[in-house]
Amino acid sequence: MAIVILQLPDVKRTSQTRPKQCPYCQAETFQRWGKVGKPVRDNRLRRVQVYRYRCCSCRRTFRHYPSGVDRADQTLRLRKLAALMWVLGLSLRGTTSVLTAFGVKISHLTVWRDLQEQAELLDQRRRWQGVRVLGVDGAYPLAKGGKRPGLIAVDLGNGRPVSIGQVDEANPQAVRRFLEPLVQRLGVSVLVSDDLASFRSVADQLGVEQQVCQFHVRRWVGRTLGDLREKVPQDWLWVLEEVKALLADLPAAGSRRLYELWKRIPERRTGQSGERSPLEQLRNLLIRLSEHWASYRVFDWQADVPWTNNGTEQVIGRMKMRSRTVRGYKSWQGMWAGLLLSGSGVDW
Ligand SMILES: [Zn+2]
Repeated sequence: MAIVILQLPDVKRTSQTRPKQCPYCQAETFQRWGKVGKPVRDNRLRRVQVYRYRCCSCRRTFRHYPSGVDRADQTLRLRKLAALMWVLGLSLRGTTSVLTAFGVKISHLTVWRDLQEQAELLDQRRRWQGVRVLGVDGAYPLAKGGKRPGLIAVDLGNGRPVSIGQVDEANPQAVRRFLEPLVQRLGVSVLVSDDLASFRSVADQLGVEQQVCQFHVRRWVGRTLGDLREKVPQDWLWVLEEVKALLADLPAAGSRRLYELWKRIPERRTGQSGERSPLEQLRNLLIRLSEHWASYRVFDWQADVPWTNNGTEQVIGRMKMRSRTVRGYKSWQGMWAGLLLSGSGVDW
């Protein structure tokens, strides 16, 4: 687990420094030009002193705020505190009630804006940090009353959510629109996903390596093999066993071996009914696995690439838990703010 480091900004009653530069012309000499009291919303202060200055160069006047204060009503400390209460599990209205107990009255919509602001700040800071291995998976956290498909992207280097969007994971164009800016901005070099065709084609188009989650592969191949075991002629059962063993070991030469097996099975014309014979299905499985083999074992030669997409699934699990208990979580925007702020060890 990441360590939670919480530092609320300090708020000063009055400014202890002089301004360094004129905000208009960047000149460095000013005269004091009076002071004004500014009422603030804060957990400790009700009012601060703001000095006004006049620039000796351009002669315009401006306010120099004490630290922790800006043009807004709420201090920086209160904005962060409100967002933090929400992250710790209070609803928007719950947060306003707790703040009322401190003598601070703000509306739940203000808490909502504070949340968005903190998420935005964190998002901007993260944009400067690259992501080498990006996990991506479909999520349906807002599924109640109609499917609203979503996609979530996670930095698998540190388990932090990177983005969430309302995207149909089966639609390659939509997946590309979602992933391309992330890949470019963050310098992603490996994508970890399940083996949906859309992820495969987008990884290809964007020129990144793809590691296919081996839990997913084992699950669907296991089902297919179980199904074929009942149907293929007895003298081909050994092939099924070999496929299973290959997937368990994931040897480098697996692709070639699967291709050899594919060639061994006689090709048969599809029957008149149009239905593929069990042996034909086995051939298809062999060639598909052979062709995709490289994407099953990127973890073997690329450092820090996991062999499953478990890291992404954990983030989705946390998100689902949160959406059951918190009211303000019913929109993509709310979910994104929540994910960003609570999906990590808090260092904001
Ligand atoms: Zn000036």
